[in-house]
Amino acid sequence: MRNVALNWVCGRAGRVSGLPRARGRAPRAAAFAAAGTLAGLLAACTGAPVPSSAGAPAAAPVTSGPVTTGPGDSPASAPSASATAPSRPLAGQVVVIDPGHNGDNWAHPSVINQLVNIITEMKPCDTTGTETDAGYTEAAFNFNVAIRLARLLRAEGATVILTRTSNHGVGPCITQRAAIGNRAHADAAISIHADGGPPGGTGFDVIEPGLIPGHTGAIVAPSHRLALDIRAAYHRITGEPYASYVGHDALDVRTDLGGLNLSTVPKVFIECGNMRNASDAAKLSSAAFRQRIAVALAAGFTAFLAPTGGAGTPAASVPAGGSSVPAGGASIPGAP
Ligand SMILES: [Zn+2]
Repeated sequence: MRNVALNWVCGRAGRVSGLPRARGRAPRAAAFAAAGTLAGLLAACTGAPVPSSAGAPAAAPVTSGPVTTGPGDSPASAPSASATAPSRPLAGQVVVIDPGHNGDNWAHPSVINQLVNIITEMKPCDTTGTETDAGYTEAAFNFNVAIRLARLLRAEGATVILTRTSNHGVGPCITQRAAIGNRAHADAAISIHADGGPPGGTGFDVIEPGLIPGHTGAIVAPSHRLALDIRAAYHRITGEPYASYVGHDALDVRTDLGGLNLSTVPKVFIECGNMRNASDAAKLSSAAFRQRIAVALAAGFTAFLAPTGGAGTPAASVPAGGSSVPAGGASIPGAP
């Protein structure tokens, strides 16, 4: 019942997750109960931004420093793309990676539920994101994949900027997440998510900006090309099917996401899989699969930014369903 209501509220953005399961996180449920407003429910949907007052980190260049481990991470070292990359095809390119949500959003409903203007509507500044039945949060997943992707892109020569540099904070607001990419004059940007769809639904979906006259006109076409490149690489390298419950052939055009509406640079969102589906959840909880996701996304960016330069990169050379993607290392962050 609750899920039905939340699904309705969230619409295509997917179901809430937030309503937290045990795992010693009673305060999270209490915080949401206190918030108990429509804004609170909306805040749990995909894609809402966070305000700068939430302690949003300034745009920070990604560093390769160690972080925390994620579920399934092995003690092996993180893969080094530079070991096999023949060149740096992304030299001179700027990529902004936005790991959706944040690990402590659930504890700060008054912050993330602040309404912000995303042109087409007012939405909560950020949301909690979803989680698997086992309690692996989307925020942790998003951050873990983002760090892996950042490392791969930097190895290819790109300058990479993250919209948040840990999974232990609040926000930033969706407006700030977009602004970080804009200020960086990013050549391409992505917001990484995993969906909270119906338990029977599987697959991934790439979301691109729709036309908002006077706002997104300049980014619609390049964002569509980015979406096609990301979709192709993701499908080929991860083997994940197109989403069965949302979008059309793993593509979706939306004008209700602040991260897209407010972007002035080519940008897409990706829902990497459905955390509410047992099969997808098992994959998303695997460090090896998260590394494969990162490799796939890197290949998508390389295809978009350097279509003639990525043929020999590790990302582009990974066969579909192959086993050549090394598992991630213990130093990869984003685990609970
Ligand atoms: Zn999300």
